[in-house]
Amino acid sequence: MTSTIALKEVAYEQPLADSEGAVCSTKHAWARVPPEPSQAERAELKARICRLLKEKNAVMVSHYYVHPDLQDLAEETGGIVSDSLEMARFGRDHPAQTLVVSGVRFMGETAKILSPEKTVLMPDLDATCSLDLGCPVEEFSAFCDQHPDRAVVVYANTSAAVKARADWLVTSSCALEIVAALKAAGQKILWAPDRHLGAYIQRETGADMVFWNGACIVHDEFKALELELLKQEHPQAKVLVHPESPAEVVALADAVGSTSAILKAAREMDAAEFIVATDNGMMHKLRTLNPGKTFYEAPTAGNSATCKSCAHCPWMAMNGLADVARVLETGANAIQVDTALIPRARQPIDRMLAFTAALKSGQSTAGLVPHLGAA
Ligand code: SF4
Repeated sequence: MTSTIALKEVAYEQPLADSEGAVCSTKHAWARVPPEPSQAERAELKARICRLLKEKNAVMVSHYYVHPDLQDLAEETGGIVSDSLEMARFGRDHPAQTLVVSGVRFMGETAKILSPEKTVLMPDLDATCSLDLGCPVEEFSAFCDQHPDRAVVVYANTSAAVKARADWLVTSSCALEIVAALKAAGQKILWAPDRHLGAYIQRETGADMVFWNGACIVHDEFKALELELLKQEHPQAKVLVHPESPAEVVALADAVGSTSAILKAAREMDAAEFIVATDNGMMHKLRTLNPGKTFYEAPTAGNSATCKSCAHCPWMAMNGLADVARVLETGANAIQVDTALIPRARQPIDRMLAFTAALKSGQSTAGLVPHLGAA
C-alpha cells in the first residue's frame, strides 16, 4: 500500500519564524549569504582560523555543499569534508573538544547528539533545510500516531525532536539497505521527510511505505526535459543523480546515489564528461578529485522553474569564513539540544551506525532489525 499525507505547502518565500523567532525563508537566506572575501581578506581569515582552531582545541567539519574555502580549510587543518553523518561520526571520534560545523542546523544537532559533552559551533544558526522546516514534530508525531504498525524511518535532515520520534535514521547512502532489511523482517514503513527519496527507495525495494510530503528545494528543481536536451548536447556524458531529485530525473541517470556514491561514480565510471544533478557545491570536490574530467550542472531552469535555489542551497551558502572566525573567537552560535531529548534521539542514529558498521565488515545485519514492537 502507498499513501501520502497532504500537508500545507511550506512557503519558503514567506518569512517563517523558527522556534527562536528567527526568519528562515530562502529570500532571507540569500540576503544573508556573506560577500566573497578579497584575496587578502581570505588569507587573513584563514590564518586567523588556523590559529584559533589550535588555541581552542577545535576541529572543522564541513559539508560538500558549503563554500570551497570552508571545504579546503577543513581538510587543510585536519578536519573533514563529508556528508552529514560522517561529519557527526568524525566529530564524535576526534579528540578536539570543540567542533565547528559548516553546514545546516540539523548537522550541528546531529553532531551534538553524538557528542553531547563537546561544544558544537556553527557559523550561522539560521542556516536550515527545507526538509527539516517542512517536518515539524507535532504534525509528524500525529502522522506517526496514525500508523502505529509501521517502523518510523527518518532521513538525517530532520530536527532532534523528529529523530527522537523515529525507530531508524537513514542517510541517502544507507537508506536502500536499511529499508530492504526492514522489509525482509516483515516490517511496514513510515518514511519522512523527503518524498522523492522515499519514492525511489520504494521503487527499488518494493517495501510497503507511507510518505511524509517533504522535498529538498535544491533537488526538487532539477528538470527532466531540460536534462534530456543537455544530454543531447553532451551525448558521451554520464548522468549522476542524487535520489532527492524527482523520479523523471532519476529515470535519466546512469548512476543514482548519495554524495559519496556520486563521488565514487565520477571516479570509477569510464567517462570523461558528467552531468550532475545535486547541489553545485559538490562541483568543487568532483573537479578537484578528477582533474581530467568535465562536470556540467544538471539544469534547474525551464517553463516551470521557480529557482528558489538554482542548484545551490541558500542555507548552505550562508556559511562563511568570517563567521567561522567569529564563532571561534567568541564561542557564539553554540548548538543546544535539550538534554532530555538526546538519549531518545540517539537511538535511531546508533541503530543505523551499528547496521552500517555490520554491512561494511560483511557481518549479518539480521539481528539488528527487530520486528516492530521489539525495536
Ligand atoms: S541542499 Fe536540500 S536537503 Fe540539503 S540542506 Fe539544503 S534544502 Fe536541505
